[in-house]
Amino acid sequence: MGMKRILVVEDNEDNREILIFRLRHLGGFEILVASNGKEALETAAQIKPDLIFMDLKMPVMDGLEATRLLRQSDWGKNLPVIAITALAVEGDREKALDAGCTDYIPKPITDYSIIERKVRELLG
Ligand SMILES: [Mg+2]
Repeated sequence: MGMKRILVVEDNEDNREILIFRLRHLGGFEILVASNGKEALETAAQIKPDLIFMDLKMPVMDGLEATRLLRQSDWGKNLPVIAITALAVEGDREKALDAGCTDYIPKPITDYSIIERKVRELLG
């Protein structure tokens, strides 16, 4: 079986490092990283993660497009994708769910226990 894999997709280095740090702290998961949607699709196709945290606003390819494309692949159509959304941006949450995201976490993330809850919920 091996360790479950979590892919973190986030273009902002500070946000990315904090999220990775928190996920590593949970222990028992392999953490993978991408900094835009295109990279995320390439990494995911190769490594087949069990869960993705997907920032929505990124250069090259945003999280909405990446999630839509992921949903068109056989292996990606049921993969849990948690969008990281800026709720200040009107309609971001709806757009995330429309694009096929499983769930969303509002940004800025101030309480990281929500991350742990989502991970346990989806990966056990
Ligand atoms: Mg961003």
